[in-house]
Amino acid sequence: MHGHETGYLDSSYINGAGQFWAVAVHAKVEGIGVESDWRCPVGNIDPRVGGASGSQHVLGKAGDFYADDWGDSVYDLMEGAARAAGAGYWYRDVAHIHVDWR
Ligand SMILES: [Zn+2]
Repeated sequence: MHGHETGYLDSSYINGAGQFWAVAVHAKVEGIGVESDWRCPVGNIDPRVGGASGSQHVLGKAGDFYADDWGDSVYDLMEGAARAAGAGYWYRDVAHIHVDWR
């Protein structure tokens, strides 16, 4: 899109997200997917993306994960998975959990 298609993911994210995913699946969270992980610096500040400048997404350290039956109980399980996977920061968004390994 901006000549930045080939982004990179930090190894902290690759390892952390793998662990996060495994823990969440084990906790019986279904339909997990990645809405967004790496974003190029130009795309990240596109208002349609809504990314903060300096976002952990630009650094390849963040992912936004969705799952089936999104709601309190699924969020709690995913938050537990983020904690178990050593995430540095996470928050609940409208229909996903943002998790990063800053
Ligand atoms: Zn995010």
